[in-house]
Amino acid sequence: MTGDLFAYVDEHLPEFVADVVRLCRQPSISARGEGLTEMAQLVVNAMTALGIQAQALPTAGGPPVVYGEMAGDRPTTLLFYNHYDVQPPEPLELWTTPPFEPVVDGDKLRGRGVADNKGNLAARLAAIKTYLAVRGRLPLNVKFCVEGEEEVGSPHLAPFVEAHGERLKADACLWEGSGVNWQGQPTVILGAKGILYVELEARGAVRDVHSSLATVVPNPAWRLVWALSSLKDSQENILIPGFYDDVTPLSPQELEAVQAIPPDDQELKESLGLEKLVADVEGFQYIRRHLFEPTCTICGLVSGYTGEGAKTVLPSIARAKIDFRLVPEQRPQDIHQKLKRHLESQGFGDIAVSAVEGVNPARTPLNSPLVRVVVEAAQEVYRRPPVVYPTMAATGPMYLFTSASGGLGIPTASSGIEYPDCRMHAPDEHIRLQDFALGIKHLVAIMAHMAEEGRRD
Ligand SMILES: [Zn+2]
Repeated sequence: MTGDLFAYVDEHLPEFVADVVRLCRQPSISARGEGLTEMAQLVVNAMTALGIQAQALPTAGGPPVVYGEMAGDRPTTLLFYNHYDVQPPEPLELWTTPPFEPVVDGDKLRGRGVADNKGNLAARLAAIKTYLAVRGRLPLNVKFCVEGEEEVGSPHLAPFVEAHGERLKADACLWEGSGVNWQGQPTVILGAKGILYVELEARGAVRDVHSSLATVVPNPAWRLVWALSSLKDSQENILIPGFYDDVTPLSPQELEAVQAIPPDDQELKESLGLEKLVADVEGFQYIRRHLFEPTCTICGLVSGYTGEGAKTVLPSIARAKIDFRLVPEQRPQDIHQKLKRHLESQGFGDIAVSAVEGVNPARTPLNSPLVRVVVEAAQEVYRRPPVVYPTMAATGPMYLFTSASGGLGIPTASSGIEYPDCRMHAPDEHIRLQDFALGIKHLVAIMAHMAEEGRRD
């Protein structure tokens, strides 16, 4: 029974909101390395105040990862992944109130990090505080892994997880956040796409020349365009040989889950001013494509003169930035090799390909016991069935937790305090206090259900 715990959350909500405010008053901008050590210490202090054994562990060249642990009644261990860094607050003039002076405004709390991700971290600490205050002990063991570089692609997390695998050992992991959709249904996310980010560079003459020389001097801008057009056809098929080889087909359960996700393609089209989407997808096909298709995206393309007026120049360099969003079991290193081989075979071996970033995709199976726990707990708290996303369309370092090779190999699901208009990464980031309270209760219920589940085994 969790009624007494939920009542405590309601009674102490102002105190929990004050805890979020305290964390968000400290700027911690990983993009410029600002305030990260101070922030890590603040997180350690917040944990220590609850009796959690916490420390800021160094990484190989990045800001520390805050690790915390606390023993509970059952041997089952739940690991929380969060991050203490935030996106830069600019443009400052678009904020109603200063980003690092969080304020409660009506039924909302506004400030940088209140949603992504300090509010979620605070919700987890609040759930623990609640358990300790009401029951005196946690129902299971908890651990925390709170990094300071999520917003810049977690460059030091992989070696950290590898070095501290034993310490981070757990039965399941709760991912950093999620929340409710427009209809107020809680959402649970079980996976993330991977990514390969590359730069292509075509070079011609040693300097730009008069474009009358186009008769005889090769143009790297054309070469790059020809090379790019060999990557994908107009039906959106990616043409790199072997690109789709490792794509795992959807399980019947995953298909069923996709059918239960309310499509928002109409809203997306309206908000973006589009008549139609890629491949004309709608409804179910839109969700399926969005969540499960890998992509090849030209993110940027530069060459020659692009300023005002005409300049008849033949450029000496052309560059493109491309990202590939990957799905299980594609691997960035493999796609990188296949891309290079493809360009060579097409006669574009002179185009330099450099990999900027690679992250593996991740997915927790729908039949994992953790999924049942998180879904049952959501049903209990939100009084409606959650929408389960087998994966999100975006990328995160989740594979370090889910993957058995090079990771912890544990099931991972999300729980959180956000709603669709919370403006993460943007000015006026905020949360609704009601979502914050529900998110804390969801965590309380997850801990209760998971301890119960451990008892059943
Ligand atoms: Zn973020």
